[in-house]
Amino acid sequence: MENCLFCKIIGGEIPSAKVYEDDDTFAFQDINPQAPTHILVVPKAHISSMDDIDQASDQQLAACLRAIRVIARQQKLEKGYRVVSNCGPDACQSVPHLHFHILGGAQMADRMA
Ligand code: 5GP
Ligand code: ZN
Repeated sequence: MENCLFCKIIGGEIPSAKVYEDDDTFAFQDINPQAPTHILVVPKAHISSMDDIDQASDQQLAACLRAIRVIARQQKLEKGYRVVSNCGPDACQSVPHLHFHILGGAQMADRMA
């Protein structure tokens, strides 16, 4: 999709620190980390948010979840991690391309909002 920041990152038009890639999924370091490990996992297909997953195939969605597990192992997050996907304005989604934050590497607060 034109003018989508994450589509440009996936396409290499905008540089990123890639940590993982497969046929359906791309993952890279968040530019403004909120935890010692903060990685964004995105489907290569442009899907705007969780609210639009009807436009994605089961294969594309499952690939994201499986990638999260692979990346957590690669990043040695054996003590745990949090997976977050902000959807829409109430959740402060700032980039309208579905993404999963992997946050880890430190003890987190025991509440989410
Ligand atoms: P959201 O607020 O939509 O849930 O998350 C968007 C995330 O994208 C934020 O954590 C933000 O730091 C990250 N981000 C925004 N622009 C860039 C960029 O150009 N490169 C990278 N690597 N991350 C970005
Ligand atoms: Zn996109």
